[in-house]
Amino acid sequence: MSALLEVEGLEARYGASQALFGINLNIGAGEMVTLLGRNGMGKTTTVKSIVGLLPAAAGTVRFRGERIDGLNADRIGRAGIGLVPEGRQIFPNLTVRENLVAWASNRSMAAEPWTLPRVFEFFPRLAERQQHMGNQLSGGEQQMLAIGRVLMTNPHLLILDEATEGLAPLVRSEIWRCLTTLNAAGLAILVIDKYVRTLVRIAHRHYIIERGRVDWQGSSAELGADQALWHRYLGV
Ligand code: ATP
Repeated sequence: MSALLEVEGLEARYGASQALFGINLNIGAGEMVTLLGRNGMGKTTTVKSIVGLLPAAAGTVRFRGERIDGLNADRIGRAGIGLVPEGRQIFPNLTVRENLVAWASNRSMAAEPWTLPRVFEFFPRLAERQQHMGNQLSGGEQQMLAIGRVLMTNPHLLILDEATEGLAPLVRSEIWRCLTTLNAAGLAILVIDKYVRTLVRIAHRHYIIERGRVDWQGSSAELGADQALWHRYLGV
């Protein structure tokens, strides 16, 4: 499988405090991969370093064969990495439609790009609420908007940081279904979340991060079969 994202020896620090100690990971075209680990282990920091929100202190990040470490977040976004950040961060005082349009671009030069009608078809709830302000939406609708907004940039790789945080189980299932559909259509996805039981079902491979290092990696079959790993690393 050709590598879309290749991270090698990634280190990151917040001032004097080192948070990542040489992360290695890769994502192939069309894969769904997860980053797992308890709170504070370095998952968000890894993502922030990949997308250029935090400069890498050491290591390399290649995307579609080109070095992207050292580029700013805007350039990395334009290269085709779309982040749905922790906390969603949609514009509360813009309408659903305005939130979506504000981000539109065809970064991957897709033959059939994501457009407003296509996002509305994919998320009918957003179509119904297109004139509502961001802050009038439920948590689940906000999450759909955060995903829809990134799809409007037509990324090659979608990264979601705790997308199901605070959502009711039914809404969470809806988000998982969306990700499965997007991945089945060929979009590569990196998911940070804690629902390992679901993730071994919908994702292909997994990385477990422990104190700023990848301590375990493997397939869904391997992780699914070894619940001692869940207990040791994830406290489940
Ligand atoms: P969570 O699920 O809680 O977000 P995480 O695995 O994503 O956990 P990170 O947020 O990447 O963990 O944090 C990794 C380490 O970096 C932690 O020790 C955390 O305290 C530290 N850290 C994170 N953000 C900052 C910051 N802005 N300034 C200083 N230290 C930080």
